[in-house]
Amino acid sequence: MALNLDHSTAIRPQTAARPSLIGLSKAQLAETLVANDVVGEKEGRMRSSQLWNWLYVNGVTDFDRMTNVAKPVRQKLADTFILDRPEIVTEQVSVDGTRKWLFRFRDPQNPNFPAVEVETVYIPESDRGTLCVSSQVGCTLTCSFCHTGTQKLVRNLTAGEILGQILMARERLGDFPGGSRPDDGGLVPSGENRAITNIVMMGMGEPLYNFDNVKQALLIASAGDGMSISKRRITLSTSGVVPYIERTGSEIDVMLAISLHAVRDDLRDVLVPINKKWPLKELLEACRNYPGLSNARRITFEYVMLDGINDSDAEAKELVRLLAGIPAKINLIPFNPWPGSNYGTSPSSRIERFADIVNRAGYASPVRTPRGRDIFAACGQLKSESERLSKKDRDALAGV
Ligand code: SAH
Ligand code: SF4
Repeated sequence: MALNLDHSTAIRPQTAARPSLIGLSKAQLAETLVANDVVGEKEGRMRSSQLWNWLYVNGVTDFDRMTNVAKPVRQKLADTFILDRPEIVTEQVSVDGTRKWLFRFRDPQNPNFPAVEVETVYIPESDRGTLCVSSQVGCTLTCSFCHTGTQKLVRNLTAGEILGQILMARERLGDFPGGSRPDDGGLVPSGENRAITNIVMMGMGEPLYNFDNVKQALLIASAGDGMSISKRRITLSTSGVVPYIERTGSEIDVMLAISLHAVRDDLRDVLVPINKKWPLKELLEACRNYPGLSNARRITFEYVMLDGINDSDAEAKELVRLLAGIPAKINLIPFNPWPGSNYGTSPSSRIERFADIVNRAGYASPVRTPRGRDIFAACGQLKSESERLSKKDRDALAGV
């Protein structure tokens, strides 16, 4: 089923630039309420806790629904702030139940600035539901097998925009109290109350090149008195931005995935060009030192299977040798083609043989079944039309 909700013509009129409260930490929320004279200093903490609960537990977007907040305060809030969620440009549902949204964000501080668009994907499985979230519009990196890599970086997403993807997906999937599930079947994993149980930062962009905003968003998403998504169920995937790997563990404390894809520097330099800056030796050293690493908290190494490029028996053996001593899982991803891509997917017999070698060395190495290929929602297929403006155009729009 491919359901397309095209709201692209429904551009909302821009009113005065009111900032959004989504994406502020609880302490920042209290400060903001006080600084804008919505409440007095004494009330700041109490009101911010109430708001936090409305925003992240109840998923409310309308201040008027905050029934335990006095009416005049609600009015002041509505006059001063917004609780913006992205617009849905399209929503597609794959034959396998995978759902892909194209979300559009506007800059509330800068109403004339062009909106940007990103893709977010929901993957239902029997025992979990995973939301694949974007961190940037486009990517500065140019991994040669990745569709996102062909889109220049437009900009980093804010913490509020990263959370906005999660909030909007939860709304669409009926994950907030009183919400209703879409009736297209097969979406809700059995035995779970929530449609979204896991988050992976594996959408568009390199999350560690937008560290502060990704950190803020993931700390809010995992806060126990808010959306309460367990940090063990949040995975951040990086192409290998070595200086931020330690900080990911110590400051965000989520699960780590590394886009490895090659076992030799000369090949990885081509497939994942950031390797020229931080080669395999440094990358693996950072992995060995990842805070909290243990057999119960392994690093996932992602390995895209490219026909005739990186899929030989010798490479499987070298992979095992390289990872020795690192508590690891290996995720073999059949290459997902996209228009204009120059690679082929390894035949399934080759993937099985590769997986066999890795399994025999004691690694669980699930081969990731491509999901949502019919709606172009599989790994590495995400891209949006947003384009980078020239400096001249940006300055003109910003009134510089
Ligand atoms: N930028 C981050 C996260 C996003 S990509 C990173 O690179 O880790 C999520 C995963 O999909 C990465 O391992 C990426 O290398 C992989 N990938 C990219 N393009 C792909 C493709 N066409 N087929 C299969 N996997 C792909
Ligand atoms: Fe960027 Fe990740 Fe794609 Fe590489 S694989 S271009 S880092 S999104």
